[in-house]
Amino acid sequence: MLIDLRSDTVTRPTPGMKEAMFSAPVGDDVFGEDPTVNALEEKIAKLFGMEAALFCPSGTMTNQIAIRLHTQIQTEVICHKYSHIYLYEGGGIMANSLASVKLLDGDLGKITASQIAESINPDDVHAPETTMVSLENTMNKGGGSIYSLEEIKPIHQLCQKKGLKLHLDGARLFNALVESGESPSEWGAHFDTISICLSKGLGCPVGSVLLGSKADIKRARKVRKVFGGGMRQAGFLAAAGIYALDHHVDRLKEDHSRARSLGEMLGELPFVSEIFPVATNIVIARLEGITPEVFMQKLSDQNIKSVKFGKDLVRFVTHLDFGDEHLEEFGKRIKNI
Ligand SMILES: *Cc1c(COP(=O)(O)O)cnc(C)c1O
Repeated sequence: MLIDLRSDTVTRPTPGMKEAMFSAPVGDDVFGEDPTVNALEEKIAKLFGMEAALFCPSGTMTNQIAIRLHTQIQTEVICHKYSHIYLYEGGGIMANSLASVKLLDGDLGKITASQIAESINPDDVHAPETTMVSLENTMNKGGGSIYSLEEIKPIHQLCQKKGLKLHLDGARLFNALVESGESPSEWGAHFDTISICLSKGLGCPVGSVLLGSKADIKRARKVRKVFGGGMRQAGFLAAAGIYALDHHVDRLKEDHSRARSLGEMLGELPFVSEIFPVATNIVIARLEGITPEVFMQKLSDQNIKSVKFGKDLVRFVTHLDFGDEHLEEFGKRIKNI
């Protein structure tokens, strides 16, 4: 049996999810007439206490639309240097929005209000105007680390005071919320826009939603069109999202507990020098005396898949298709390497 820990995107729809998809009522969503897409957008907007939502094909698209909304040519985005929006979206800040980016450093991929305050450009002819701050929760490159609301509040206050838009790349926000016990609506109250992936831990085949004000989502719909993300009978996909919100949120805790066990098992290997603190479903191992390539080949020989995550780092992500039986099997197999 293959043990695929490359990402929480490798899951297949469950039988219940497939049933929900096949029986969804649909219409043309570009005309705003797909009842299932509309239902998903309303459901998730309400959950977060935000005015509106927009269903998109990917998290890259929801993030890039948010950046387009909150910047203009020659303005600047502030984010952590390990942000997905900077590292893994094909240079989209530049390519889609002609904006500049200021990259901050910080523990486990997180930044603070005081760091942001120091990084806002002065009103000066030499500098791109700072218009936007983007945070990520959970933080992928930080090993699935979590921001608490207490860390968010001063950042939100600062952004309001300085007239900056605040975006959250919440691709894995539900992982953070099930762990912290904080409510979606408390989070919704602190951001102008939030992007949430349905195709990560929630187990959908496709999809991400952008949350925001009515005015922002109206503009976002236009940007989605020009990005090529206007889909027609997308209700078949949105139905998976509704099903996931009803059935796959609480179970994320199981992924977290398996990730903690996985981290302990990996930590016992002689050539693993460090395991990043396991806060959610991501485990990052630092290697010593072995390259990621060689280590991953040894894992691959045991039919275990992982991804390289830096010059001496390898990442493992637990998910819906990684159960207790896979965890047990993983424990047996890594004794052979
Ligand atoms: C996966 C991910 C995204 C979006 O990725 P897509 O593959 O485009 O859906 C955005 N941010 C983070 C942190 C992610 O992990």
